[in-house]
Amino acid sequence: MIQEIGQHMLSTEFAKPKPKATDFVLLFERTDVFLLPETGTLPTYRDWCALGGSDDLLVHMLEVDGIQFFTVLDLPEAIRSQLKKDISRCLRAVEPRWLRLAAVTGLHLYQWFQTHRFCGVCGAPMRPDGKELAMRCTNENCHSVTYPTVCPAVIVGVRNGDRLLLTRSSVYKNPVYALVSGYMSVGETMEETVHREVLEETGLKIKNLQYYGNQPWGFSGAQMIGYWAELDGSDKITLQEDELKEAGWFTPDEIPPAYEEDPLDLTHYMIEQFRARRLPGQLQA
Ligand SMILES: [Zn+2]
Repeated sequence: MIQEIGQHMLSTEFAKPKPKATDFVLLFERTDVFLLPETGTLPTYRDWCALGGSDDLLVHMLEVDGIQFFTVLDLPEAIRSQLKKDISRCLRAVEPRWLRLAAVTGLHLYQWFQTHRFCGVCGAPMRPDGKELAMRCTNENCHSVTYPTVCPAVIVGVRNGDRLLLTRSSVYKNPVYALVSGYMSVGETMEETVHREVLEETGLKIKNLQYYGNQPWGFSGAQMIGYWAELDGSDKITLQEDELKEAGWFTPDEIPPAYEEDPLDLTHYMIEQFRARRLPGQLQA
């Protein structure tokens, strides 16, 4: 999964490091990422300088084993036009693996910076605070401060004997099979979210919830929290059609092929655990 980076250590602790040639300058635009056109790789500080970039535009975001990651909130057109834009999904394949977590965490922070450029209290511009990882209002009478946000969301693997509930979204164009998932509502416990999402999306009742694991998922600014649950009562599915185009029960042998051999996301990691019959109570084929 994306957070599994072995001995490497990622830190978003505030720092003001002086950039080195081998540090990274992650450049984004909304949900897209800019790559070097010749190699298709993420730009380093050396590349940033060669493109004509200046140090004043760099905003520090994070660090992995002493390698610093910066971004730029206002990318000059003269630099932008020399780069190749790709959808952020391409970050799933970046090598080495630890760089995926760094790049996707960078995307999460970049999007948070971009959506907090104006103060929610007084409307004045905000700018990165010089003392901590935060955005501070430039209005002297306000000085409102805001910190990076993470949105908790649940993933639920609902089991019914030897079958697993899989769904396909109606929101995306070419949805892959997934588990029931959804964001927590204000005032809810995680377990209440699990029950509510399963009921809303499929009309099913569940019991015996078991926490499984969680992961940061910077693509959507979320923390994904995984649970297993058992069906409670009828297995008849009533689809919530504005969210799902399909939902059904699958045995391990009926699950469609995985689209990633070694899934980065918790949803597909959980599906692969079920397919491989590694869960408690599953009989080996
Ligand atoms: Zn303000």
